[in-house]
Amino acid sequence: MSQYWSDLVRRLTPYVPGEQPRLERLIKLNTNENPYPPSPRALAALRQAAGDELRLYPDPSGDALKQAVVDYYGLSGREWVFVGNGSDEVLAFIFMALLKHQRPLLFPDITYSFYPVYCGLYDIDYRNVPLTDDFCVRIEDYAQPNGGIIFPNPNAPTGRALALAEIQRLLAVNTDSVVVVDEAYVDFGGESAVALCARFPNLLVVQTLSKSRSLAGLRVGFAVGHPALIEALERVKNSFNSYPLDRFALAGAVAALEDRDYFEQTRNQVIASREQLTRELEMLGFEVLPSAANFVFARHRDHDAAGLQAQLRAQSIIVRHFRAPRIDQFLRITVGTDAECAALLGALRSIVG
Ligand code: PMP
Repeated sequence: MSQYWSDLVRRLTPYVPGEQPRLERLIKLNTNENPYPPSPRALAALRQAAGDELRLYPDPSGDALKQAVVDYYGLSGREWVFVGNGSDEVLAFIFMALLKHQRPLLFPDITYSFYPVYCGLYDIDYRNVPLTDDFCVRIEDYAQPNGGIIFPNPNAPTGRALALAEIQRLLAVNTDSVVVVDEAYVDFGGESAVALCARFPNLLVVQTLSKSRSLAGLRVGFAVGHPALIEALERVKNSFNSYPLDRFALAGAVAALEDRDYFEQTRNQVIASREQLTRELEMLGFEVLPSAANFVFARHRDHDAAGLQAQLRAQSIIVRHFRAPRIDQFLRITVGTDAECAALLGALRSIVG
């Protein structure tokens, strides 16, 4: 600890992302990246962006990307869209702009572990709402005084999805605070709440191009919501960084959103591989939670999760394990290519017998 640190910095407990090790012949199933490359059209747009124009600042409001989101979802205008440097940055702005209030923010006890980190950064009071015994979000449990509600749908790291009708039921009773649905994994089997934004002025939906568009390395995310919510985010962004998205990010993201065929093809492949992987894990003695994401959350009936993780790692296969209450016997396994899934299953077969 340094004598020069502020009190705030002393108190922070930063988020720790999944590791990005440099191992030979690594099978990387730990950070929910897409196993397929980005759209060829996105790569062509990136190559084209590598030119003289890098001399110039990018568009500070990212209008071309906002328009691509408008076109994709059939929204009524760009004032319904906010874009940022990965959905993590979009979330950071949302916490700062919309979720700090007198009453506590509500989110599940088992969820994306960045949420409590933002609360620490912005000094936001929060309350964890326990998932049910089978790891579901129960909407009734959120009907309590709050300064905001946030959860991923599908949830992470469980992969379990909530039906849109449930979210609508929550919005019908929770009208005094913002409800944020983090749809990082929605394209792999969830139902997007974007269509509800026009009816509920307190709903904000967050998405990323890191997962279903294979662009984790480009850092692009966005939020859709009522223009008054979007304006709050713009105010924070314009008090922080005029250009969070560079020329590459804007060009690549627009092309990726426009290439719908490639998107459909790759996400369908991931979904098919997930179903196959689930069946095979079950045959090896795993309980696998029903997943609507590009990962599965699984525990073995008689092998310790931390031990399994270490033994897989010895074979250059990395998966994620959380040393946290209720889920310390689970592994979160990203759906890879069929060849990667086969290698994982082969390794597990040799470990669990
Ligand atoms: N939300 C959830 C639920 C996530 O799992 C992730 C990925 N770690 C993110 C948001 C952030 O993704 P990105 O910043 O790459 O858009």
